[in-house]
Amino acid sequence: MTDRFSFSLDATDGRARTGVISTPRGEIRTPAFMPVGTAGTVKAMLPESVRATGADILLGNTYHLMLRPTAERVERLGGLHRFMNWDRPILTDSGGFQVMSLGALRKLDEDGVTFKSHIDGSKHRLTPERSMEIQRLLGSDIVMCFDECPALPADRERIADSMRLSMRWAARSREAFGDRPGHALFGIQQGGLEQDLRGESAEALRAIGFEGYAIGGLAVGEGQEAMFGVLDYAPDQLPEDRPRYLMGVGKPDDIVGAVKRGIDMIDCVLPSRSGRTGQAFTRRGVVNIKNARHQDDPRPLDESCTCPACKSYSRAYLHHVFRAQEMISGMLLTWHNLHYFQEIMSGMRAAIAEGRFDAWEADFHKLRAQGDIEPL
Ligand SMILES: [Zn+2]
Repeated sequence: MTDRFSFSLDATDGRARTGVISTPRGEIRTPAFMPVGTAGTVKAMLPESVRATGADILLGNTYHLMLRPTAERVERLGGLHRFMNWDRPILTDSGGFQVMSLGALRKLDEDGVTFKSHIDGSKHRLTPERSMEIQRLLGSDIVMCFDECPALPADRERIADSMRLSMRWAARSREAFGDRPGHALFGIQQGGLEQDLRGESAEALRAIGFEGYAIGGLAVGEGQEAMFGVLDYAPDQLPEDRPRYLMGVGKPDDIVGAVKRGIDMIDCVLPSRSGRTGQAFTRRGVVNIKNARHQDDPRPLDESCTCPACKSYSRAYLHHVFRAQEMISGMLLTWHNLHYFQEIMSGMRAAIAEGRFDAWEADFHKLRAQGDIEPL
């Protein structure tokens, strides 16, 4: 066990990379998928179940936790790891993105952002310094810089102004983070879909210096083609010897395309959120369990999947409990989805290590193109 934060790159295949991030709370195998534990829980899952799907790290949301139960309360209760019973690494976002997504409820200035709580309308303020303080109180292992991110489409001037503000905030975040051995601060590249602005942002972040680098401002409505267009150059603008984290992405084919382009870490609410709305991700594409075609189907969701939902339950049962609005519906489908996302990651890690990523990717797309098994 290390007392420091470090990243070792073990193999590359094309632009895809595999390695290990070491932290005092354990290792993170990359490329890594991070389930989202918004308010101190990955919804419908026990922490040990999340671990059983293969997760090495969880994401927590500063915005939600600062409002309820508050960072100070979490700190008094021993920190987020102890509070939520997850002793492995936790990454927290800075709150910036979620404040942004509230749109009209916020007011932005050079120093920070003032906003109203979606829970009770109370007024709050986030600055780079306050975001660093909150993430420290939570006990986060990987802390994200406080940044601002415009929704796309936005005009070039707005994107440039916003990116430059985020870079000034990145410098303040670095300063406020201080010297915390074993913990990491990640910078966030912005610049929308503009290559030169992304380059300027990367240069600014490199000059400050971070333990890892995120690509922000994507998966905000630009579409997969435009996102891959940015990922064709953005990872290479960032230091090769540090982890690269693509924030808030995405569907299985988005994740595969991102890893192919050099991304090491990724997070998304999709597997857990979709699990609660009756949507399952499988090797053969998306299955809507609410569809009537499943009501008499004794077969598992995916016969080759080893998750509890597939090992012990039929499509008919999953359909029934979804229709009956039983809680086990969200639990089983979330488990399956998280398991499947982690299977994709472990499949890619092995393929990259063995220099057969292209063949793995071709199989991934071929199976998906077949679509779901024929109805009975
Ligand atoms: Zn399964």
